[in-house]
Amino acid sequence: MNVVVVGAGVAGLSCARELGAAGVRVQVVERGRVVGGRLASKRYGHRYADIGAAYFVADDPDFRAVAEGWRARGLARPWTDTFQVFPGEPARGTERWAAGKGLRSLAEDLASGLDVRLETTLSAIPADADAVVLAMPGPQALRLDPPGAVAEAARAQRWEPVIAAVLTYPERVWGELHGAFVNDHPVLATVCNDGDRRGDGAPVLVAHSTAELARRHLDDPAQAGPLLAAAAGELLGIKEEPEVATHRWTFAQPAAGETRPFVTDGRVWLAGDAFGKPRVQTAWLSGRAVAQAILAAQSTAG
Ligand SMILES: Cc1cc2nc3c(=O)[nH]c(=O)nc-3n(C[C@H](O)[C@H](O)[C@H](O)COP(=O)(O)OP(=O)(O)OC[C@H]3O[C@@H](n4cnc5c(N)ncnc54)[C@H](O)[C@@H]3O)c2cc1C
Repeated sequence: MNVVVVGAGVAGLSCARELGAAGVRVQVVERGRVVGGRLASKRYGHRYADIGAAYFVADDPDFRAVAEGWRARGLARPWTDTFQVFPGEPARGTERWAAGKGLRSLAEDLASGLDVRLETTLSAIPADADAVVLAMPGPQALRLDPPGAVAEAARAQRWEPVIAAVLTYPERVWGELHGAFVNDHPVLATVCNDGDRRGDGAPVLVAHSTAELARRHLDDPAQAGPLLAAAAGELLGIKEEPEVATHRWTFAQPAAGETRPFVTDGRVWLAGDAFGKPRVQTAWLSGRAVAQAILAAQSTAG
């Protein structure tokens, strides 16, 4: 049996790992220059900042075991259970994990030993594979013209954009801050202290926009940068001007709605974080569920 997994985000990589461990021949195809998808760390100068997922939560026992494995090897650690809330009381109690080398390093770890072909954009479903897993947002999957049931589920997904702004200050000019959720703000949705998250203490904040702001600036995300910098500065009482770099996520966050872990027509599968709460953990579980279903179908057929 040979399987092609399209997309080397968390969902695709967890799927490919599970299949590979069972001895299935699996190739991962990824359009980007690196693995990770929205588990993304990008280099600015000589330092990486996390510009996609801000952290991950590991409250599923199996994903928790993966996280503990990363912790044992020094790749990830519980970061904080306290986020500020503007306006409001701090949110406490959820254990949020981060990675010293940036969250994308965890995708690199999942990809190790797999056959991953980078910088390859598929525009059609490979005809010669026994199974094809589209591990990506539904709107991206639709570009490969998937069959009926898969296309229908992909079309039903609703996605919101986000613009991330990496704000680099001359020095740390804010007090105690891990991260903050910002409610009912026209521009800003979250701000994270990237130096705290990564553990190097660098004076870098990463701000994520509201969907509303991102929609307005999708064609020119750089224009959103100063707005995000000003909003973060005002919120945290910072007067200094940061250097600003922006990144656009057109399909950042799906509206939760799906209760299934994936959809399939029998040969083509759709996985990702739209199948549950839009989180890294959901993507991992969705990809693994597809692999387990492919393996179960194979053993029934055999
Ligand atoms: C701004 C932002 C903040 C977030 N914050 C959090 C958070 O704090 N905590 C949390 O748990 N989650 C967070 N998330 C969500 C988290 O990042 C995702 O749930 C998870 O990374 C999704 O993984 P995935 O594999 O489903 O999809 P993706 O990571 O999107 O992977 C899909 C991959 O498919 C590739 N691809 C697409 N089309 C093709 C094609 N035609 N050919 C080849 N390759 C293709 C893409 O390049 C991509 O690498 C956030 C996301 C964003 C964008």
